[in-house]
Amino acid sequence: MHRAPDSSLATPMDKSLPPDILFSKHRILPLPNGIEHVPQETAYRFLCWCDFLGISIRSLIDPWIPIGNIGPVLLLAHHDPFATEMVLPRWFCGLFNISLENYLTLQRDLTDMEEDAIGLQYERPTKSWPSSAPDFNEDFEASQFILDHAIIDDSLRIAATAAVRNRASAAEMPPELREAVLLLRHQCAVTEMRFIRPPQALTELAPNTFGRYSSVAFYRTDRAVWLATPLAPDDPARRECIDNFIAEARIKPQPRVQTVVAPRDQIANLLLRSKSGGMESTAVKAVGHYARKADLTLDLVQLQQIDPHKNDTSERKIVEWLIGQTILNNSQDLHADYADGEGRFRINVDGKLQELLRVTESRWRICNALIRDHARCTKSEFDCESKHFTCRLDSELVDFRVEATTFRDGGMPPSLTLRLLGRQSTGRLLSDLRLREDYVSGIRDFIRLPYGLILVTGPTGSGKTTTLYAALNELNKPDVKILTAEDPIEQIIDGVLQSQVDEGKGITYEKLLRSFLRNAPNVILIGEIRDKETAKIAVEAAGTGHLVLATLHTNTIAGAVTRLHDAFGINRSVLSDVFIGGLSQRLLRMLCPECKQGAVLSAEEAALLKRLEIPVPPRCYRRREGGCQHCSGRGTFGRVAVMELMKNDRKLRAGIRNDKNAEELSGLSHANGHSSILREGLARFAEGVVDFEEIHLFEMLDF
Ligand SMILES: [Zn+2]
Repeated sequence: MHRAPDSSLATPMDKSLPPDILFSKHRILPLPNGIEHVPQETAYRFLCWCDFLGISIRSLIDPWIPIGNIGPVLLLAHHDPFATEMVLPRWFCGLFNISLENYLTLQRDLTDMEEDAIGLQYERPTKSWPSSAPDFNEDFEASQFILDHAIIDDSLRIAATAAVRNRASAAEMPPELREAVLLLRHQCAVTEMRFIRPPQALTELAPNTFGRYSSVAFYRTDRAVWLATPLAPDDPARRECIDNFIAEARIKPQPRVQTVVAPRDQIANLLLRSKSGGMESTAVKAVGHYARKADLTLDLVQLQQIDPHKNDTSERKIVEWLIGQTILNNSQDLHADYADGEGRFRINVDGKLQELLRVTESRWRICNALIRDHARCTKSEFDCESKHFTCRLDSELVDFRVEATTFRDGGMPPSLTLRLLGRQSTGRLLSDLRLREDYVSGIRDFIRLPYGLILVTGPTGSGKTTTLYAALNELNKPDVKILTAEDPIEQIIDGVLQSQVDEGKGITYEKLLRSFLRNAPNVILIGEIRDKETAKIAVEAAGTGHLVLATLHTNTIAGAVTRLHDAFGINRSVLSDVFIGGLSQRLLRMLCPECKQGAVLSAEEAALLKRLEIPVPPRCYRRREGGCQHCSGRGTFGRVAVMELMKNDRKLRAGIRNDKNAEELSGLSHANGHSSILREGLARFAEGVVDFEEIHLFEMLDF
């Protein structure tokens, strides 16, 4: 049976064809810009095939190299379009033509990864390949074919088998299979969106079309516009989508609209990539929800059935278990490192590390690679587009940021830290942070002002970002334009235009802030003031009608004020005018309410309380060594923030102008009723909320 070609397909001869993006099974498409790396997942799928067929990649002289995959379907590339060394049937792959140079890099990449892939478990195909490409009348037939002939994960197999039994269409298939089915059945063009970076003006042409159909323009010639859409060629909504696009984009003369099928999440990522330097984009705002689609979905019931210690538990399941445990234990981060011939996974609960699991070296390699793969990070260079991934556990969405630390000799994969960034935290207000009421009202007084500079200080892990985000959420109203420059962006906030600083690419704080000022924002958040230029622009912006929130790496808030002058050369009288106020912050581990132990205060403790004019309680509480079941043996449960607020009033303003040092400024602030952070910590001790050792700890660090 011969199928009429899809109308959305252009021939490679067509001069209007985008240079490096289209993919179709029966054509070899040029990829002049090449690609940087073989994605991990793609490499594994390919290497599993090699393993299954008994081929070592090293024994192949000049094979087609996998550069991507659409579900179980591999995309292969070669510098010589006539090369024949192909592990899989030609008709089951997408083919690309790349430069020889690029080919050699990718080949090396792939060989490097072969070792990592040993022991990876994908379910094997049950039937061997037919001699020629089959034809399909229905989507589910194509699905059945993939189930029989391709390497797919067992969880996907279960979901897909049920869908095939119900003769489901591609749209009803599990997402990992949807595009592969379309591709196989319709032989339609499918775009590997990962390769392209369209101009922002183009992706923003029709935000409503994006909102309704998840379809977006990504390439344009004089006569044609290319639209990426998740809608199948036989989906009636596709025509509607094109009409909508034409009506909304209003391009004159009316162009021909070409469509290609692309996965929904890739379209969303495309939009994110198109916003150069993170500047304003209406479409980007609309993409928020898609960008937050989970990269990894976990099921609580299934998680409980995973035993990571059993030998036949796959690495994929182990990684799922680890990530699940990190979330379920309310941990801040998961640490994966290698020591003494073993891989070790630990979680950080309230600032203390707890071991979750140890695995053998070979398992460690695979788990490590799988985690990096979730965050789309390559092995050879830890520089990927996004080091974030999103995980859904039941109904909760959680963002993780993956950081790689050291690469050891001997090709050992890097140590990884997965930081848990936000648990659906968007929209959290100051009042949701369980802060003391006077802290909340103090900060609200600062941000109520229309312009000026607000400073937040504290060491890493003191929760200052959480406080700042909550303040932004309070400011986030439809008529308030908020721009942020951050490194890294820790949480995505709907309606706020967030930009990632990337010094390697020349996107510095300074550059971002200068471009912000041309965009007339009301509020600007500066991730960190760390040089003169940034400090200068921050103060300028604060003095010219913008509310500027910034963090500074100092221990005290008074220290931040003097630092702006002493280290960054800000004029004192200008500073005294624009500075509204600020805070420094620490997090203290709270005593477990179930097992904390009453005790008598020591003479030293009582004296300290007296000196700071804190009423001395008849007894205090201490942490119980070994804890209890409620606190998993830690003796502490959760954390509480303590803050030192500083409000710039008449006296303090004079102090700043008159060259007072940090200590003197603190004194002025405390005289106005603001408490020092030490006093705040001790008050929590006197209330029986924290152990004295907690305060002792941060006091030693700071003073
Ligand atoms: Zn306890």
